[in-house]
Amino acid sequence: MPGLIHDLRGARFGRLAIPATAAPVIRDRRAYWPAVCDCGRHKLVRGTALTQGRTVSCGCWRADPAVRQGARLQVSPRRRKQIARLGGQARARLSPQNS
Ligand SMILES: [Zn+2]
Repeated sequence: MPGLIHDLRGARFGRLAIPATAAPVIRDRRAYWPAVCDCGRHKLVRGTALTQGRTVSCGCWRADPAVRQGARLQVSPRRRKQIARLGGQARARLSPQNS
C-alpha cells in the first residue's frame, strides 16, 4: 500500500513546477511527480523531496554555485565564460567540491 500521496498538481517548489495535468508515478511505494524546471528541463521528483524542500530544481540550481566557486578560484574571465556555457554535469566535473 502506498502511503499518503500529496496532491501536488499545479504546485511550485523553487524552480520546479508540477503541471496541473500531471499524474504521479508510483515506484517502490513512493510517489514521483513529473516536474518542469524553469530552465525547461523535465525531472521526475519524489513527492516528499518536493514537500520537504529538498529538491528545488532539476539540478541547475546546484550547478550555479559551482560557477561562482570557479570565479573564487580566480580562473580567467575567458575560462569562466567557458564554464558558464557548459551543461550541469560538465560544470560539476570542473568543480572539485560539489557542495
Ligand atoms: Zn533546471
